Amino acid sequence: MSLHIPFDNSYATLPDGFFTRLDPTPVTKPSLIAFNRPLAEILGISADDEAELAAVFSGNRLPDGAAPLAQLYAGHQFGQFNPQLGDGRAILLGETVGTDGVRRDIQLKGAGRTPYSRMGDGRAWLGPVLREYLVSEAMHALGVPTTRALAAVRTGETIIRETGPVPGAVLTRVAQSHIRVGTFQVFAARRDYDALRTLYDHTVARHYPEVQDPAELLAAVGARQAELVAHWMSLGFIHGVMNTDNCTLSGETIDYGPCAFMDAYDPETVFSSIDRFGRYGYAAQADIVVWNMAQLATAMVPLMPDGEAAVAAFTEIVHALPDRIRAAYERRFAAKIGIASPRDGDTALVTDLLTRMQAEGADFTNTFRALATGTPRDEFRDPAAFDSWEPAWRARIADEPDPAGLMRATNPAVIPRNHRIEEMIAAAVEGDDAPFHRMREVLSRPFEDDPDAADLRRAPLPSEVVPATFC
Ligand code: AMP
Ligand code: MG
Ligand code: MG
Repeated sequence: MSLHIPFDNSYATLPDGFFTRLDPTPVTKPSLIAFNRPLAEILGISADDEAELAAVFSGNRLPDGAAPLAQLYAGHQFGQFNPQLGDGRAILLGETVGTDGVRRDIQLKGAGRTPYSRMGDGRAWLGPVLREYLVSEAMHALGVPTTRALAAVRTGETIIRETGPVPGAVLTRVAQSHIRVGTFQVFAARRDYDALRTLYDHTVARHYPEVQDPAELLAAVGARQAELVAHWMSLGFIHGVMNTDNCTLSGETIDYGPCAFMDAYDPETVFSSIDRFGRYGYAAQADIVVWNMAQLATAMVPLMPDGEAAVAAFTEIVHALPDRIRAAYERRFAAKIGIASPRDGDTALVTDLLTRMQAEGADFTNTFRALATGTPRDEFRDPAAFDSWEPAWRARIADEPDPAGLMRATNPAVIPRNHRIEEMIAAAVEGDDAPFHRMREVLSRPFEDDPDAADLRRAPLPSEVVPATFC
C-alpha cells in the first residue's frame, strides 16, 4: 500500500469519556471525486493511486496509524441547549503535524452511524459534500481561517433525504482541531470538572500555548472569533448554523451546511431553510458570536478557583466583544473602499454606500470589486445613487497610498454564488463533475479577473436566485 499518512494522534490519548472509538462503516462502491494534492502535501500525505485514495477516504480501508473515533460534545442549537450531540456521522481518523509545523485533524464526514447518531443515518449526500468542499476551499483562498477539504468520494450508495433518494458521499475534512464551544459545554453540563480541566489543558497546549488561565483563553478565543465574523461579513458570507457546536476554539470556520454568500446587499439576508426566525442572518452574526462566547465563559466558570471573581472577569471580556467586532468590521470595510488607515468619518462613508446599495439592489461582491476594476454605478438600479456618493469617496482616497491595490486585494472578483453551487450539484447528481472541478479551479484564485469566468462572477438574474439552502 503506497498511501502513507504520518499520523501523530493526541486527542485519542485523552480519557475514554471524550469519545467513542469505532471504525467507519464501509461503503459499497467508492469512487474518487476530488483529492486536494496541495493540502495533502502540507499534511505530509503521499499518495497516487486513485482506487487507494477512494478506499481510504471513504472509510473502506484504514490507513496505518489511524485511531478512529467519534468525538463527544453538546451544544446550543438555535438557542436551545442539547446536552448531548457528538459526531453523529463523522469519524476522526487521527492527526498529522504538517510540513508547516501545524497539527491538524483528518476527519471523515458521512462515515456511518456512531453512538451519537440519534435518528440520523450517519451519512452525507453528494450535494452538501460538494458544497462544503467548494466553499471551505474558497474561504481558504479568500484568506479566511477555515477547515479545509482534502477529499470527496462517492459511496456508490443511495440515501434518503427530505427530497427523496440522493447519492451518498464522504467528505474528508481537515481542521486545526474539532474542539468546539460545545465540547466545553458537555463536561460543564455533566459537572465532570476533571474532564473539563483536561480539555482546557489540551486546548491551551494545542492552540494557545501563551495562555495562562481560563480568562486569557476566553479573551484569545473571543479575539479570533471577533476577527472571523468581521471577515465573514466583509465577504458577504452567511454561515447559517452558528450553534455552539459549530463554533471552534481554534477560530476556524467550521461546518458548512446551509451557508451562502449574499448576492444583492441586504443585512437581513437569511438562506438557511432551517433558520426560520433569522437568528443566524447576515447582520445577526456579530451578536451571535458574542452569545456563543458567553456560553464558553459559562462553561469555564468551574475552572476558576473563585466563582464570583471568574464571573466578573469573564463578563468584562464578553462585554468588550461587540466593540472589538465593530472595530474589525470597520477596518475591513474601510479597506474595501481603499482606505488602509481609517479615521473619523470613514465609517459614515461606508454606511452611506451600503445604504445606497441596499436601496438600489446592488450586488455586494460586484459593487465592491468594481470600485477598483470596473463601473460600480452600473450595479445600482439608479446609478445616480452611486454618482452622488462618489465625489466624497474620491476625495477621501486621494490621501491613501494605493487604494486600487488595496481594493483589488480585499474585494474578490469571484465567490461561490449560491445559484452556481446549486447548478454544480445538479450536474454532479447526473454524474457530470465538470462544473465542480471548474469552480474549484476558478475559486482557488478569487482575486483574479479571469476573462473565462464571467459567468461565475455574474449576479443571478431574478429567475436564477436560489433563496434557500438545505443541508
Ligand atoms: P450540524 O447541524 O451539522 O452541526 O449537526 C448537528 C448534529 O447532528 C451533530 O451531532 C451531527 O453529527 C448530527 N448529524 C447531522 N446529520 C447527521 C446524519 N445524517 N446522521 C447522524 N447524525 C447527524
Ligand atoms: Mg456541526
Ligand atoms: Mg453540519
